[in-house]
Amino acid sequence: MLGFDDGLWTSTPRQAAPLRAKAATKASSHFRYNAKDLIPEPDAQQQAVFDQGHGVGALTKELYPDGVEVGENITDLEETVRLTREALRTRKPLFEAALDDQFKVIRRPQHPDVRIGPQCRDPYPCPLQDRCSGFLPLQSVLDLYRGTKKGFGLLDLGVTLLKDIPDDTKLTTSQAIQKATAISGRPHVNHHALAGFLSGLEYPLHFLGFETFGTATSRKLDVSR
Ligand code: SF4
Repeated sequence: MLGFDDGLWTSTPRQAAPLRAKAATKASSHFRYNAKDLIPEPDAQQQAVFDQGHGVGALTKELYPDGVEVGENITDLEETVRLTREALRTRKPLFEAALDDQFKVIRRPQHPDVRIGPQCRDPYPCPLQDRCSGFLPLQSVLDLYRGTKKGFGLLDLGVTLLKDIPDDTKLTTSQAIQKATAISGRPHVNHHALAGFLSGLEYPLHFLGFETFGTATSRKLDVSR
């Protein structure tokens, strides 16, 4: 189980979708080793999630006590790749391993020309998104509410602005409102719905943002949905 977090391929289950992430991280890996200064430092929330991922990695090692520790405390990636090749012959779970393909990408003089796509956000947000998506105008198709796949599909068709979304594109109600406001330039306010909602509230009110509490893995199975 290999994943990519703070610069090394690791065994944390949170990033246990490595093959899907492999293409996603081609360019970002190159940056991480050749132009680290272009990658923003993780904020406190991201760092907390990384730390928790490391905790999960430690638990994984408990789960697979016969696993082989490959690259712990080794910063020379070439050496880590060599040790990984050796350790693969044991056919045991590997921890802190490095992939040969990844190394080839890192050694290239120029980063791979990878187009932005769903891989920039899934399985985790790439820290280079601002850089790679810098060409997008304000109110782009990637702002579609819950419309990542649709947005990237529209980009592939050459549509970048919300207001230019073709009429035959199937949109949800919220997405249709976004397109309409982008065309009109006026905000959408449903006074009737707002009044109805507000009239149902009773003082005292207490607020808790749903993003107040986030963990690398859900604390209970029933909160994962
Ligand atoms: S933002 Fe997307 S295209 Fe850019 S490096 Fe990250 S995954 Fe690759």
